[in-house]
Order: sequence, then C-alpha cells, then structure tokens
Amino acid sequence: MEIIKAIRGVKDILPEETSKWRFIEETARRWASLYGFQEIRVPIFEMTALFARSIGASTDIVEKEMYTFQDRDGTSLTLRPEGTAGTVRAYIEHHRAAQPTPQKFFYTGPMFRHERPQAGRLRQFHQFGVESFGMADPRADAEVIALLWHILHDLSLPALALEINNLGSVEDRASYRPSLIEYLRTVVERLCANCQRRITTNPLRVLDCKVASCQEATQSAPRLNHYLSEKSHCYFSAVLKGLDDLHIPYQLNHRLVRGLDYYCLTTFEVTSTALGAQNAVGAGGRYDGLVEALGGPPTPAVGFAMGLERIALLVPEKLFSSSVQRVLVYVAGFGSSGTAAGFSALDDLRRGGISAVSDFRATSLKAHLRQADRLAAHFTLILGDDEVAAGVGILRNMDTKTQHSVSLASLRQDVSALIAPC
Ligand code: ATP
Ligand code: MG
Repeated sequence: MEIIKAIRGVKDILPEETSKWRFIEETARRWASLYGFQEIRVPIFEMTALFARSIGASTDIVEKEMYTFQDRDGTSLTLRPEGTAGTVRAYIEHHRAAQPTPQKFFYTGPMFRHERPQAGRLRQFHQFGVESFGMADPRADAEVIALLWHILHDLSLPALALEINNLGSVEDRASYRPSLIEYLRTVVERLCANCQRRITTNPLRVLDCKVASCQEATQSAPRLNHYLSEKSHCYFSAVLKGLDDLHIPYQLNHRLVRGLDYYCLTTFEVTSTALGAQNAVGAGGRYDGLVEALGGPPTPAVGFAMGLERIALLVPEKLFSSSVQRVLVYVAGFGSSGTAAGFSALDDLRRGGISAVSDFRATSLKAHLRQADRLAAHFTLILGDDEVAAGVGILRNMDTKTQHSVSLASLRQDVSALIAPC
C-alpha cells in the first residue's frame, strides 16, 4: 500500500526535539511576561479579506504565498500567514481600545505560507510575536525591540545583528515616491521582473529585493531619509536613544522597508549570519495606521514576530536537556495475580503524583527489567505473585541496585519516601 507522507514543507517535531521547542517557547513567554505582555490566542484561519487588507495586495504573502480555500458556503478563508492581522481583528472586535490601559499581547503558534521549502523556510512554520497597542511613544518601540533582543540573547543565539530604519510617515513617503519611481525608471532594465512590476505597485519594496542586480541598480537611488519631516526624524532619534540607553547595539539599514501605507517610522530586523541564506530571525515595526484601516479607532501600535524554526536551528544544545525524560518508576507486574496488581499500582502511583509506566507486552520479570533499563527508569516496582500474596512490592533502585520492600496498602507513601531524593 502507498504510504501517506506529510505535506511538502511541513515538519513533524518528534519527542527528541520537543524539549528544545518548549525551552524556546518558555524563554519567550517568560520574557514577554516580564515586559507585561499577555497571551492572546487567535484562530489559525480567518476571512481572506482580513489578510488581503492588512498585509496588502502587492506583497509576496498576499500575491503568492497564502493558503486560501473556499468554505462550503463559498466564503473565502485563509490559513493565517502571520499573527498581526488576527490580533488586530480581535483587538477591534473585543473593543480593547476602550480599555484604560495599553493592550500588550503576545502569541505563538503555526503560520502558513506557500513558499519554496528549504532550511529555515517551511510552509507550516511557527512564530512567537508581540503587539503593543495604544502608545505613540518611542519608548514603546525601544521596549519591543529590547524584548526581542533579550529573548534571542537569553537563547544564546550566535552572531546576532539588529538592523533598523525609519520609514517616516505616510506623507513623508508620498513626497519620496515620485523621486524613487523616477530613478527606478532610469534603471528599469537592470531590475528583476518582480521589481519592474513593483515600480508602479510598490516601489519601496524594490529597495529590499534580495536579487543582486536589483541591489546594485538601486545603489544610488534617492534615500527616503532626505524626505522625512522634522517630526519623523525626532521620533526615530528618540527610538535610537532608547536603544542606546538600554545598551542595545544596532546598524542603520536604509534598505529595510515594508511597502505598506500603515507601516510608519520604526522598522527593524534581527539577523544571524550563522543561518546562511534565510538569515532573518525576527522582524517588526510600527504600524500606526493598521487598526484604523481594519475599521477600528485610530490606534498607535508596534510589534515583532520571530521565527521559531530558525531559532531552533541556532539554539546551542547545552542550554537544554535534549534527551527524552527518564522514567521515574517502571512497574513490573507479572504472573497470574502480579499482572493485575501491577496495573492497579500504576494507577495508584499516578494518582499520587508519581510518574509511572509499564510495558504491557512484557510477561516475565526478565523482560520487564530489560524494558526498565531501556527506558532508563530510576526505579522498578516488582510485583510477582509471591509479593502480591504477601501484600508487598519490591522497589528496586536501578542505579544502585538496592531493593526495598513497600506495602501495597500504603504504596504511594512508601514509594514516595524511597524516591524522595530523585
Ligand atoms: P523572509 O525574508 O525570510 O522571507 P519575512 O520578511 O517573510 O522573512 P516576516 O513576515 O517578517 O518574514 O516573519 C517574521 C519571521 O518569521 C522571519 O524573520 C522568519 O524568522 C520567520 N519566517 C518567515 N517566513 C518563514 C517560513 N516560511 N519558514 C520559517 N520561518 C519563517
Ligand atoms: Mg518571506
């Protein structure tokens, strides 16, 4: 029979790896809580229009990466390609703007993009992200950047660099656009097919195209920096000062852009040169126009998302225990009454908060002990017919090989007392 395999670009995370994933997620959660972010869980599918409107029709995600399908009634639905759109929808839908305090959320979970799978680029991947709503203050930008930076450093990721840019306001970009377009038209033959199209649809995106010839062609393009208002300059300087105050190093990168109207001012990305081609670990920015664009009240907002697969590739093994957890108590019940007594003992121990397992295929003491060894059990509880007749079990320490008798009538207490040092 043909074996059904997982979909291309989608990965199983097996028990040998889940401890690493838990470690990454727990580190991120811990830091987010320290910063006052609260967890939000939003659906993994939404109306297609939500993503089309929030991410923007002329982006790679909406143009070619979304998993979109028709529901039975014909409604167009999409598996979420990122977490901001759903979080903003929930913020609006639940009237969170009416709350007197800033609303700071974090989320984690799978995202879906139809991309060419390669190391660090999957079709189902996982992000951890935060969104900070309500504060139009440069310290809010510095705060989310600091959070991202501290999480990544706490995870000991190598060769990290923070790049940052100022996108200015919608008006700043409107005054810059004609000069950029005019310039791009003069180098049009040197641009990739995508960028030739972007000249009219999303000219800013030409600046961050990864194709080498596009980068060369835009080397002497006019810089947005020269078109920024005094206000935008001041705001960005204050963000940089915040980072200086927190001793977070950064590099300015004028190519870091997001070509959508609701992005403004701060945009940033953290990369690791240890990753090779897919080197972005996390990215984010300010998006003051988005809540309003989706029908909510005007709300300043800033956030980031980081890619957990890329982080998992970089986390040093020594930081967490990658081995599957050792079993605490292995229960070896065998023989005509020992088998049933073993099954009850498992339940008794577990209900007493003592982790216990058995291999129901083993029918002899020898077979049980072999499995206890394979599972690296700390203790084995031996229950043969003779023990059951005497109302006892034998608790064997698998490391020291010492054995103690425990009473079946007070099994939990006796076992607890003996395993206490473990
Ligand atoms: P890239 O330039 O690598 O395509 P992006 O700009 O599309 O990244 P964002 O939308 O900013 O990425 O998502 C934030 C982070 O999520 C990225 O920095 C990356 O770590 C991770 N990420 C994005 N797409 C994928 C993917 N297909 N597989 C694995 N991780 C991803
Ligand atoms: Mg991408």
